[in-house]
Amino acid sequence: MKIGIDAGGTLLKIVYLKNGERRFEKRSSSEIDILIDELNTHHTEDEIYLTGGKAEYMDEKLNCTYGMSVEFDATFRGLTALMKEQELSIGRFVYLNVGTGTSFHQADEDGQTRVGGSGVGGGTLMGLSKLLTDMDSYDEIIKLAEKGNRDEVDLQVHHIYAGRPTPIPGDLTASNFGNVLSGNIHNLSNADKLQAVIGLVAETVTAIGISLADGFDTKEIVFIGSTLLNNDVMREIIERYAGLKGANAHIIENGEYSGAIGAVL
Ligand code: ATP
Ligand code: MG
Repeated sequence: MKIGIDAGGTLLKIVYLKNGERRFEKRSSSEIDILIDELNTHHTEDEIYLTGGKAEYMDEKLNCTYGMSVEFDATFRGLTALMKEQELSIGRFVYLNVGTGTSFHQADEDGQTRVGGSGVGGGTLMGLSKLLTDMDSYDEIIKLAEKGNRDEVDLQVHHIYAGRPTPIPGDLTASNFGNVLSGNIHNLSNADKLQAVIGLVAETVTAIGISLADGFDTKEIVFIGSTLLNNDVMREIIERYAGLKGANAHIIENGEYSGAIGAVL
């Protein structure tokens, strides 16, 4: 069996490959030593391939590894394979890996270039959610956020123009959390706050993606990373915002495993 591991800042993404079949698994990065023990005990016959920020740490502790890739190369190899399987053929595109932080890339037939990063990502989602609502379960956060309404938290363009014609759609966010001082925030629920947090992350990364796509002469923006996982609020905001700017957002199924898949390729 071949095992690909993308050891990230928050999550360990693992892909087990046997007889052409793939099995995916995710664990918290805090369990990295438990995973290493398991691999050293039960997977002595298997080929282990590593990538991600914690790959070197794993490599030092594992009895035997077969290869280690730079995460940006592995992720692009895996993403290319997933896009092919999902029959998404766009020659020229930008992609955003929304992990703990977010990294931005431009890609064409010749390969990928990492063009930048932002500290706003899934870690921001988790951290601000904890500060504002004391919740720390990703699954609970994204579920509750669906029931929220961020209208009183975010300042929208029409708030500023106050009834006058707006040069851009009035319901676009002018300032994330910018309405807190003047809005009716006494009745805000945790769901409202969580939705606003996700809005901040989604709109920030999408705005950067749109600008990068513009500068790269493409309309295609691809999103991967565990921050998209079952995150309907995030997905809807990304799709709507990109659509308003005439860009096409593509959220890749199992995209968070791109690095783990690519590590083996
Ligand atoms: P990086 O690439 O920046 O080192 P990473 O590879 O660990 O980090 P991802 O796994 O792509 O990053 O994404 C991590 C984010 O995914 C978290 O910050 C959180 O928002 C979200 N997430 C999804 N599922 C979970 C989960 N079960 N537990 C914690 N966070 C989760
Ligand atoms: Mg990662």
